[in-house]
Amino acid sequence: MYRDTIEKLAFNGLNPAKAIEETKASTGKDIVGVFPIRTPEEIVYAAGCVPVGMWGGRTELSLADRYLQSFCCSVMRTNLEYALRGVYNDVKAVIIPSFCDSMKCVIENWKLALPKIPTIALAYPQQRRLQSGLEFTVNEIKRVKHELELALHKIITNQQVEEAFNVYEDYRKTMREFTALAAEHPDIVSAKKRYLIIKAGCYMDKAVYTGMIKEINEGLKAEGPSTFKGIRAIVTGIMAEPTEILDIFDENGIAMVGDDLAVGSRLWRTPARDNVEDVYMKMAYMIYDLEGDTFFYDPDKKKGSMMIAMKEELRADCVIVMMMKFCDPEEYDYPIYKEELENAGVPHLYLEVDQQMAGFEQPRTRIQSFCEMLL
Ligand code: SF4
Repeated sequence: MYRDTIEKLAFNGLNPAKAIEETKASTGKDIVGVFPIRTPEEIVYAAGCVPVGMWGGRTELSLADRYLQSFCCSVMRTNLEYALRGVYNDVKAVIIPSFCDSMKCVIENWKLALPKIPTIALAYPQQRRLQSGLEFTVNEIKRVKHELELALHKIITNQQVEEAFNVYEDYRKTMREFTALAAEHPDIVSAKKRYLIIKAGCYMDKAVYTGMIKEINEGLKAEGPSTFKGIRAIVTGIMAEPTEILDIFDENGIAMVGDDLAVGSRLWRTPARDNVEDVYMKMAYMIYDLEGDTFFYDPDKKKGSMMIAMKEELRADCVIVMMMKFCDPEEYDYPIYKEELENAGVPHLYLEVDQQMAGFEQPRTRIQSFCEMLL
């Protein structure tokens, strides 16, 4: 039975439009678009809406070229393309953080190109661990709440935010358990299924989705020891797409036993503080406590050492970098952790990916060669 749930969520992860339609029909809730990364979804959920992750997709790009250069990442270009084609016409608002130059441009372009969709910009402080940075984060979350109230013509109470935060805490805890169990059962949760199951959560009501993941977790717990004999990989990057690359992983017996993906463990690996009462402060501390996240100032550059530790903990054989083309924040990190992985003797494969890429023979050859090198 739980294997049907795996298939259902993998389907939803692969078919966002259908998943969103189903979510709207089954919950009766409105949709608010949340751009990557770290948008405070709890505020949207507290407003009685479903936050839907805007992670681009695969399509031909033409209209977006009026606003964005061809060297912007495919996620931002695709989001704008879909919006200009009217795909997001019934979205009640969008929230866009400003982590990179592309996002900063998109915030203004979106306002100009799509004036009917309220656009809420969000900025996190560079110095998130100063008292002033912490207060700034709290104020930003509250400002987003206020702007969403104006966009939706409703008041969001503190109690609703607390309830939503609890739903998300349950989700984050459940996902930590899911990834740990999936790492022990790569024969059941292949690299592609693992990724698509996780991605499905971007398009569903989190309470419903969490219930389904709990069912999968119980099913995995009841399984005997895994028979998997292939390669155990840690995957890092923004997203593990296009999914054809994951088909190649599966063909070559590569399991994703751990990840450092923006559509993945970065969403839930930082637990909330138990000793903080105020819900907005709890949310701000989750930003404060983030470690090794590309998008938050990290003078110690912990990403490499965290991946090396993850490799040991999960008995992984290698790290696979899925570098989103033209994503400068991710690219800046690479030379630093590449050297650390090499010094630690961790084999790694660098794949440059783009949501619109069409030919897969070159990555197929590189993945096959990498596997031969490891075996
Ligand atoms: S450049 Fe990177 S961080 Fe910026 S929007 Fe694209 S994928 Fe996200």
